[in-house]
Amino acid sequence: MAQSSVVAIANQKGGVGKTTTAINLGAALAMDGHRTILIDLDPQGNASTGLGIDVEQRNKTVYDLLAGPESLEDCWMPTPIQNLRIVPATPDLSSADVDLAQTKDRTRLLQRKLEQAPQGSIILIDCPPALGLLTLNAMIAADGVLVPLQAEFYALEGLSQLLTTVKHVRQSGNPNLRVNGVLLTMSDYRNNLSQQVEADARATLGDLVFPTVIPRNVRVSEAPSFAQPVLLYDPASKGSAAYRQFATEFAARLKLSKEEA
Ligand code: ADP
Ligand code: MG
Repeated sequence: MAQSSVVAIANQKGGVGKTTTAINLGAALAMDGHRTILIDLDPQGNASTGLGIDVEQRNKTVYDLLAGPESLEDCWMPTPIQNLRIVPATPDLSSADVDLAQTKDRTRLLQRKLEQAPQGSIILIDCPPALGLLTLNAMIAADGVLVPLQAEFYALEGLSQLLTTVKHVRQSGNPNLRVNGVLLTMSDYRNNLSQQVEADARATLGDLVFPTVIPRNVRVSEAPSFAQPVLLYDPASKGSAAYRQFATEFAARLKLSKEEA
């Protein structure tokens, strides 16, 4: 049986497309028959909201998963997409750094619980915009890191800090952690700066940068207010097409095999 694959979607900058990528990559993989679990690890809970999980419905959350006896199965919820489950987050997660500071093995709490995932699952972790205890838990639990990079001026500078963190995690507890790749997001092909950032990223990072670039697309930004992935909200949009194409590349790069839920 195929092993599970755990991917931390991380960048300490906010607003670069982590959550949008988690939702739409998750949706595209699930629609393609991959058993997919999204872990909402951001206290803002945007991935939960974006997949139509109302705050009142969030009985068991990722906080319970980290801090309590709850199993993965106790905490996951179905989404409007078959094969896609989510462990939701609520704002109480923002105190996790402090609450868990004295807990034994506090960087391995998520890893322990994700070991319960069914064989062959693909688990995407939507990280908060910081390199604190939550992101550390994600990186310790993960096989790889997917880095969304917004095509703007300081994008590459923030990246070196993230790569340093990945290096530390490799040395301190997860020697097999890889960088799966960098996904350029919110690119505007009419804008010279977007093109320059893309050229710089490809020159510096080579094949680490995925061939597909996600364009800035108004349908992508509208979808969350309809509590849907853009793949459901407007399947014919450019944003949907880009995320579907990216999901295919991503599955090929990770050599994901399909095991229907
Ligand atoms: P992060 O999780 O890194 O903070 P988000 O995924 O929440 O970033 O994206 C930040 C904002 O940009 C959100 O309002 C989102 O709807 C919008 N956005 C993300 N990707 C696109 C895109 N390709 N086109 C247009 N808007 C986008
Ligand atoms: Mg986010």
